[in-house]
Amino acid sequence: MVLNDNIKKMFASFAPERQKAMDRYTSFRVGGPADLLVLPQTVEQVIALVKTAQKTELPVTIIGGGTNVLISDKGIRGLVMVLTRLKQKIEQITPSINTGEESPGRIYLTALAGEPLGHLCRYAADAGLAGLSWAAGIPGTIGGAVMMNAGAFDSDMSQVVEQIEILDLATLATVVLPANRLQFSYRKLALENSILLKVRLGLTKADAGTVRDEFYRNLKIKQSTQPVSQASAGCFFKNTPGVKSAGFLIEQAGMKRARCNGAMVSDLHANFIVNHSNACARDILNLAGQVRKRVYDKFGINLKEEVKTIGD
Ligand SMILES: Cc1cc2nc3c(=O)[nH]c(=O)nc-3n(C[C@H](O)[C@H](O)[C@H](O)COP(=O)(O)OP(=O)(O)OC[C@H]3O[C@@H](n4cnc5c(N)ncnc54)[C@H](O)[C@@H]3O)c2cc1C
Repeated sequence: MVLNDNIKKMFASFAPERQKAMDRYTSFRVGGPADLLVLPQTVEQVIALVKTAQKTELPVTIIGGGTNVLISDKGIRGLVMVLTRLKQKIEQITPSINTGEESPGRIYLTALAGEPLGHLCRYAADAGLAGLSWAAGIPGTIGGAVMMNAGAFDSDMSQVVEQIEILDLATLATVVLPANRLQFSYRKLALENSILLKVRLGLTKADAGTVRDEFYRNLKIKQSTQPVSQASAGCFFKNTPGVKSAGFLIEQAGMKRARCNGAMVSDLHANFIVNHSNACARDILNLAGQVRKRVYDKFGINLKEEVKTIGD
């Protein structure tokens, strides 16, 4: 889409990025240019950007840490907001004092959507707050983690989210949604036409040493079982309920180390497709297609993608 001068002028005060290639904003290190790319730092800027996009009829795409997305080689049309700068000091609240709720041992942590999940995990580990150690080593933002219902070690975000604040894109109102109004399922929060702005987690006071040990134990397991130093978007496919893990099926289908140009099925964890050497999105999608076909041919199971494909 070619943006006319009038539209460019309307967005000028938001300091759009000059370098608009999306490969710099994704852990896969692939992705073509956005028409317009802005990294807002405040909730007010996010709202003003959405209003301007609606006035100019530009579609809006939200990216957090870009660690669970595959952006097409042709890029993304319209306005892209990358939320990694939307953060402030993590707030700690004791429910019984500040909210009138009686909940001994309970502590809330509040963060804006762009806060790295890793910061929250370490903060909780250092403060002796239990409930988030399972997320050690999961990259990305807290906003992305809630939207994806990120999980590991049989736990996921649905177990710790107390409430979220969203921008409803239909009404442009900010709305607070308590946990009992949120529909989480495997790697998904059902939330349409909204931008997640703020998250409140509910954790429990515990022995700091125990929480820290658990955090580092989980981190070590993750680092030894996943190709964390290579460009990827984590597990490419979802596990299918009631059957062995997608990684196991892919390995048994003989697809470990399979390649399509610079894209490769990881040697360490078969459900990771890695950008081995200058892969483009098409290489990754082609390889994912081959993996899906081989698993279907061998097991009759149709793997569904966990990674979100975005763009043209
Ligand atoms: C090495 C590695 C290991 C990983 N391990 C795990 C793991 O153990 N478990 C796991 O579950 N995942 C894992 N992942 C995947 C990924 O890190 C998580 O899903 C993460 O929580 C995504 O967060 P993000 O900020 O990067 O989201 P993004 O990838 O930027 O976005 C994901 C989706 O959420 C939407 N979104 C993001 N932020 C917002 C917002 N504020 N409002 C509205 N929509 C939004 C985007 O539009 C997109 O559809 C791993 C990834 C890598 C690279």
